[in-house]
Amino acid sequence: MIIDRYKIREQNETLVLSTIIQHSLISRASISQLTGLNKASTSAIVKDLIDESLVIEIGTGDSTSAGGRKPILLSLNKASGYSLSIDLGYDYISSMLTNLYGEIVEQNKERNTFVRIENVIEKVTAIVESYRTYYEGSTFQLVGLTLAIHGIVDENRIVFTPYYDLDQMDLAKKLHEQLQIPVYVENEANLTALAETSFSSFKPNLVSISIHSGIGAGIIMNGELYYGHNGQSGEIGHMILYPNGLTCPCGNRGCIEQYCSEKAVVSQYRQLKKNKELSLNDLAQDYMNGDESATALVERAALEISIGIRNIISGFAPEVVYINSPLTRKLPFMLDLIDSHVSSKFSKDVPILASELGSKASLLGAAVMNLQNFFNIPNLYLSKEPEVMAEVSSL
Ligand SMILES: [Zn+2]
Repeated sequence: MIIDRYKIREQNETLVLSTIIQHSLISRASISQLTGLNKASTSAIVKDLIDESLVIEIGTGDSTSAGGRKPILLSLNKASGYSLSIDLGYDYISSMLTNLYGEIVEQNKERNTFVRIENVIEKVTAIVESYRTYYEGSTFQLVGLTLAIHGIVDENRIVFTPYYDLDQMDLAKKLHEQLQIPVYVENEANLTALAETSFSSFKPNLVSISIHSGIGAGIIMNGELYYGHNGQSGEIGHMILYPNGLTCPCGNRGCIEQYCSEKAVVSQYRQLKKNKELSLNDLAQDYMNGDESATALVERAALEISIGIRNIISGFAPEVVYINSPLTRKLPFMLDLIDSHVSSKFSKDVPILASELGSKASLLGAAVMNLQNFFNIPNLYLSKEPEVMAEVSSL
């Protein structure tokens, strides 16, 4: 565990702070009403939060119908600190700086770059420096750095990475020593699930499926990420789809990701057309033009993905399933095809949605992880359009 340099909040303080974050602009009286804390306690906690520079007073609300004096409204001091997210892909590094409200301040993507044990500290440190002008004048500066890892992560340690050798080092510890800020590493699919629960759905039971070169899922169960033994939950790409099927690097045969990951689908399409240069865009174009073999390929992949989703729904009973994949971004009609196969008693009422957060989901999830830890609020809801609380009375 990382020793956090920030204070551990008491339960009531967490309650007041999360109420302010959730409502964007709110009076002390409304906080008191919503939390059930008395006005004196509320005022004392708010004073501490203001002294800490986490909360600011912003203007005044409407006066009450009874003619009371106008209440002063409170808001999160969202520019008092910043969160940095970095996605370490196989051949890219993307990064995002957000304020304390999870709003994107700046982002970047470096393509055709390969992280390895020899260069990862240097590359990450350079990214942290590249955002310095944004955060260095603020009270809390960088409140956390979370790295999205394409592999298995357990207890803030990278356990297994199929595409790079970062499982050979304690990356979070090394970066923490170097940068002197809290550093977290987390599985990429887990972060997309965290992003969906914080920015999109607020549902305590959901699954977010990432379909890229492999297939993985982040599972939110009872409001929390479900890790399983050794952090191995959600490795759904290795569900057996066809017994005695294609061999998989995991040691099994017939794993689903060998058939309907983005990489597998594009590679089948290239084989079909005997052209190694073809991309997912070409497949989408062929499908739109009614090309028979492209249509058959897309329909088969949709059926296979739906089998995986049905198994997930039967096993975990989510309220909603998100798909985060270039497949559904470039071939949006694939979602209807998938949906048409998901019709069992258990799964037919579960919405299957394309993630609206798209390719930013893992970075936004990394921001949620930083902010949850900084605020010490386990279920942080960062609505895109926060509700402005109607005022009740002045305090
Ligand atoms: Zn496998």
